[in-house]
Amino acid sequence: MENSLLSSYQLEIEEVLDDLRAYWLERDISRYNITAFSKVTNKGANIMFCCPSHEENNPSCGIERNYPYRWNCFGCGAGGSLVDLVKIAVGLTNELLGMQFIIKNYLVVSSSERKPIDIESILDGGNKKDRVRSLSEEVVLRYTKKRHSYIYGRGFSEHTIRKYEVGYDEATQAITFPVRTSNGLVRFIKKRFVSHKGFLNEKGIDKKDIVYGLYYILQAPNHITEIYLNESETDTMACYEGRLPAGAILGRILFIDQIRELMRAGIKTVNLFFDNDKAGVECSIKAYELISTHSAIRVNVVLYPNQQYGITDIEEQKYKDSNDLLKLNMLGSIKVIPYHEYESMIRIAGILDIEEIKTTKN
Ligand SMILES: [Zn+2]
Repeated sequence: MENSLLSSYQLEIEEVLDDLRAYWLERDISRYNITAFSKVTNKGANIMFCCPSHEENNPSCGIERNYPYRWNCFGCGAGGSLVDLVKIAVGLTNELLGMQFIIKNYLVVSSSERKPIDIESILDGGNKKDRVRSLSEEVVLRYTKKRHSYIYGRGFSEHTIRKYEVGYDEATQAITFPVRTSNGLVRFIKKRFVSHKGFLNEKGIDKKDIVYGLYYILQAPNHITEIYLNESETDTMACYEGRLPAGAILGRILFIDQIRELMRAGIKTVNLFFDNDKAGVECSIKAYELISTHSAIRVNVVLYPNQQYGITDIEEQKYKDSNDLLKLNMLGSIKVIPYHEYESMIRIAGILDIEEIKTTKN
């Protein structure tokens, strides 16, 4: 039963590892291995990260991106199932607790089973309190007082950094991005390390009903009805810098509650502007399916410059996302085409199995 459950969902392993790191750092034991679960690196079929069993600076642990999510360390030989990894990180004593952790945090919130968001109960602090609680504005202010040069290196102007309330947390040496709901409540602070790739995520925060950046769009003096949809907050900021209204789904999976937020905001057209890689193309195909099933929003797709439909020469991508395009002054060279045109281009290229992507569950 456990296996069939795991096999029918696609877990975002990078996100899981970031969560596990946050759990690990909360425990005293992390003093003895401060790097465990850090330096999460995408290596295609495998995701590399620093070993929980021995301290290291170069990640030698690998975990499969897809089911059955086995992991092993090339350095010390540690390894096992995803449940084993969860047990180590969180400090759980048996398999059942490990599996329950995965179900609670990553499986039960399957989009079709979720109830519509109830703002009143959030404000009243209903039983969903822990997952959808909001932070005080003071927390945001504490971080926005500080800056780190990293954020300027990404090509953002002072205006954009202020607009998105980006700051810096000295304690964790991470850039901070407040993530607000459409109503402006601060659900959580996303933290991105400056010294290496990776995020420090708070555990158990529900973000499946948030389109990052939508709150700022709703503040605009003119009613905006068309937005670009990115994967990450820095891509959304890059679009803003390039005068393209945008929002981010905070990962590679679009959820029904996020579509609901777009509809509530009066969005009529969405231009899918995900990363310029295979996962980004798959994300576009799935996002179109979900949006067209649940709304009347028109869907277009962004074509990157000098590049064929986001699917060829995957190793040779010159621009991996909108932030890259901004840095290289190429944001003006994108092309927006209707989704159906995009899909036929992919069919002609014959590289991806569209039907399979459409029918694979997240
Ligand atoms: Zn090891």
